[in-house]
Amino acid sequence: MLDSESLNALAERLSPGAVLTDPDLLQSYRQDWSFDPESGTPAVVVRAADTADVQEVLRFAVDHGVPVVPRGAGTSVVGGSTAVDGAITLSLERMTAISVDRGSRTAVVEPGAATADVKAAAADAGLFYPPDPSSFEICSIGGNVATNAGGPCCAKYGVTSDYVLGMTVVLADGSAVELGGTRVKDSPGLALTKLFVGSEGTLGVITSVTLRLVPRPASPHTLVAYFPHMSDAAAAAQDIAAALSPSQLEIMDSAAIGLAEDFIRMDLDRTAGALLIARSDAGLGARGEIDTMQKTCETHGATDVFSTDDEFEGEVFDRPRHAIYEALEKVDALISDDVAVPLRRLAELTDGLAAIAERHGTTIVSCTHAADELTHPVLGYPHGDDAAAVAAAAARVEIHELAVALGGTVPTEYGIGRHKRAALAAALSPELLALNRRIKHAVDPTGILNPKVLVSALGETDGRAG
Ligand SMILES: Cc1cc2nc3c(=O)[nH]c(=O)nc-3n(C[C@H](O)[C@H](O)[C@H](O)COP(=O)(O)OP(=O)(O)OC[C@H]3O[C@@H](n4cnc5c(N)ncnc54)[C@H](O)[C@@H]3O)c2cc1C
Repeated sequence: MLDSESLNALAERLSPGAVLTDPDLLQSYRQDWSFDPESGTPAVVVRAADTADVQEVLRFAVDHGVPVVPRGAGTSVVGGSTAVDGAITLSLERMTAISVDRGSRTAVVEPGAATADVKAAAADAGLFYPPDPSSFEICSIGGNVATNAGGPCCAKYGVTSDYVLGMTVVLADGSAVELGGTRVKDSPGLALTKLFVGSEGTLGVITSVTLRLVPRPASPHTLVAYFPHMSDAAAAAQDIAAALSPSQLEIMDSAAIGLAEDFIRMDLDRTAGALLIARSDAGLGARGEIDTMQKTCETHGATDVFSTDDEFEGEVFDRPRHAIYEALEKVDALISDDVAVPLRRLAELTDGLAAIAERHGTTIVSCTHAADELTHPVLGYPHGDDAAAVAAAAARVEIHELAVALGGTVPTEYGIGRHKRAALAAALSPELLALNRRIKHAVDPTGILNPKVLVSALGETDGRAG
């Protein structure tokens, strides 16, 4: 328990305005986008201004035996930045500096910078930062690195980890280490940079990231195709991914088409079984790629196919995908999940989602990153309706079971957080669990960093055969 005397002492060691203790303000840091009704209430929120503040907070936390929950923008949908009762929530939201070096094609970025701002700063220098989680306008780069975020353009460009060259990390004992550097080869000693990518705030607090930028691709050409059945869309996507490198290859199911049409009214075909949205940014080759995609879609029974080389019109074609989140956010609490099944079984997955939705009275729509075989079922239920929240949680468990039954997995594009610990435990062999635990203990011996998340929350016997 932190008393006011120790909090005052902490405030004196930190930048002005860093410490928040007002109960109303603390409330706004309790939950993230998983909206967990069991979120704790932090004893204090620290809004760090620099690496030195983060070091002070961690030294203080170890001295007082108080857990620390690092927090970026709080868009975790798996409870990664959900507060712990009596703990310190360490917000990086004030650390937003971005510096782009066109010569080395790198950006040095503070963790609280919005991903959208990093992409915009790269674009201003004529460069491109590819990772594009759907939340890119509301999430932070530190959160992206800590969860190894992905998005539609991972089909061609890979995930956040592929762009992290180096970082500054503050360890649990308050020491700051520089990992990697500005060049791909800058990695003396063990290659530890990637250990911290995806570590969800359980191994250290990232206070600066060096990102690799790439040449800006040509503006994309876009194709949309309606299919009567999901199985046809999945087969077309499989052929497209095998032959080409689309910069986006997404499939919306019929429930998602209907929901988007309710919200944006753009005359989408509600009777279709699936809508495929694909892009090529291959410059002079883009027209040819789109033509091949069109033929492939028609071969697999597409009813209507439209394409455009106009960037603005392409955004309009892609609009339904974003509209499903906006529609659900507006009226419902929203759970965005991720499962992976082989594309040839995608139709069984989406049929199963419809059955689960009906059984639990929950809205479930899905959008699939087809090149990665990664499906996001998005669940919606009325805000503040506890019974509906319980039903949605039960639906989510069934979705995970269904994915595994279809030969798939419950992957971690969104991270493990608190809410996918069962999936993590099921995936780790006893040996791998033991290694994870040893690494966690070596780096954070008192276990103060994000104690309810990822491997922090697993016991010795929680692994697959445990
Ligand atoms: C509508 C919507 C769509 C989404 N779409 C996608 C998507 O397409 N792809 C995807 O990958 N995710 C997606 N997400 C999930 C979420 O946006 C990502 O996980 C994102 O990377 C989290 O960033 P954040 O800044 O909000 O982090 P937070 O939620 O604040 O934190 C996430 C995790 O990172 C840790 N963390 C944050 N900052 C630091 C730091 N500086 N040092 C150490 N640890 C830190 C936290 O402790 C926590 O474990 C979506 C979320 C929403 C709400």
